[in-house]
Amino acid sequence: MRPASVTAPEGTYGDTGFRGLISVSFGTADARTADGNDGQLRHDFHFDWANTQALSQLRSAIELACVGVHVVLTGPPADIMAAAAVAADCGLVEEEVTLLSDGSRMRTVFCAHCRTATETVEPVGSEFACQGCATVLAISDHFSRRLAAYLGFAAHAEEAA
Ligand SMILES: [Zn+2]
Repeated sequence: MRPASVTAPEGTYGDTGFRGLISVSFGTADARTADGNDGQLRHDFHFDWANTQALSQLRSAIELACVGVHVVLTGPPADIMAAAAVAADCGLVEEEVTLLSDGSRMRTVFCAHCRTATETVEPVGSEFACQGCATVLAISDHFSRRLAAYLGFAAHAEEAA
């Protein structure tokens, strides 16, 4: 059942839903350069950044889509991670979402100790101080799509004990 206020573009959605590719680009990224267009239906979005309006439009598109839709997110990591969190919240699984970072090195790290999300340019595997509790965190390669962040754990837990 769909909300009555939602009007779908002719030929894009219907009672059978949309089963193609939803391509979303942020900032200067151009989704048309993304791979994955093998002739299937696709729905392109472009936003300056992952603001509330952009994310709610994406949410609507995903909610109207059927099982089998694939979402490709292109742009700065912070934006595509925010969009990936929306996709996960809509029930899409990891295999249904492709993240194409535009090369910006900014990433969000979620502190496992005080639950503060800190943005950093440090690469996975390096250490930095959490903005919330000042614990020196090691950035794990575990990316949580639910939190839209990498998980950070105390880098020297064994020494502090
Ligand atoms: Zn912390």
